Amino acid sequence: MKILDSTLREGEQTPGVYFDNHIKMVIAELLDEIGIEFIEAGHPVVSNEICQGLKKICSRSLNATVCAHSRSLIEDIDLAIDCGVDFVGVFYCVSNGRIMDVYKKNIDMVKCQIRDVINYAKRKKPGLIIRFTPEDTVRSEFENVYGIAAEAVKAGADIISIADTTGYMMPGTCRSMYDYVVGLKKKLAEMDLFPRIEVHCHDDRGLALANALDAFRAGADIIDASVMGLGERAGIVDLAPLLVILKEDFKVTNNWNLKLLPELYETVSKYSKIPIQVNLPITGENVFSHCAGIHTQAAVINPLHYQSIDPGIVERKTKIILDHMAGYSTIKYALEQIGEKIPDDAIIYDILNTVKQIGRKHRTVDLEEFRHIVKWYNYHDCQAVKK
Ligand SMILES: [Zn+2]
Repeated sequence: MKILDSTLREGEQTPGVYFDNHIKMVIAELLDEIGIEFIEAGHPVVSNEICQGLKKICSRSLNATVCAHSRSLIEDIDLAIDCGVDFVGVFYCVSNGRIMDVYKKNIDMVKCQIRDVINYAKRKKPGLIIRFTPEDTVRSEFENVYGIAAEAVKAGADIISIADTTGYMMPGTCRSMYDYVVGLKKKLAEMDLFPRIEVHCHDDRGLALANALDAFRAGADIIDASVMGLGERAGIVDLAPLLVILKEDFKVTNNWNLKLLPELYETVSKYSKIPIQVNLPITGENVFSHCAGIHTQAAVINPLHYQSIDPGIVERKTKIILDHMAGYSTIKYALEQIGEKIPDDAIIYDILNTVKQIGRKHRTVDLEEFRHIVKWYNYHDCQAVKK
């Protein structure tokens, strides 16, 4: 299985997000270093700048295959090929309602257009990887989806992407992505067609990752994701948890360097001006932190009592937080952290009370401040000044 990162295409469709071309290059290089197999780097027809960015990223000879988005039009294909991409993602809507209302066409006209465009692309650049996406796949008439997908594959499409454009799918229900992938593969196999299956899951219901994993279990070959899940509306699958779960829980053997994820996220966050949510799985500030006294008591003995993911896999560390939730063992642990000998219980409780008071002011105590608090009680210890 492979990952397609769309931070530079879908991610830039987040309201207000814009990456300069030199930043796009840095992000593409980091994705490449991590070992992401496909990088979707833009839709060249949108602007000359995107076109120039794509050209330069393609010229870097990354290990990743660079992909461009393209409408089902010859002019888009020409432009994408001119940019030097080895992968073009062609899309078109396939629902009767939209075809008639928006495009004033019928399904046969759409089939012809898609077949001609894919034929043209394959002739113009043999070896070009072509993906066809029936837009809003999962809410479109199924017979249209497999009918047009079959036409696209016969014309030369290598990949059919199942787009959950509106985040509509839901595991364990009649809207299951697992069943959809199985059903589409079966239909195409009956026609002796075996394209690779990609999935593009939006997160409108907070189920993008669950649906993507459902698709993976059903045999999908490529999963789309973006850094922090950036994208239209609620975005798409968040890259970091997807990679971690596939590697740690599903034991895929892809050679991804997960340790670079924090750097990638900081870079994207800095230049997209979208902060990394503190509770964002894997990369959020708080996700390997322990706060409540009862948790820290167990976590200082073995962090895995209250963690099921080893932070080391993304080069992060378990943190014990000092705030109003701290307990006796939190203070003892922090004293050990700063190399301080363990004082009498009375002093430990004084320190604990001070930490809790500061915590009630909506902030945490870092180890530097903790050192000052300990020093304060040590100064007064000889005079037995207690509260
Ligand atoms: Zn999308």
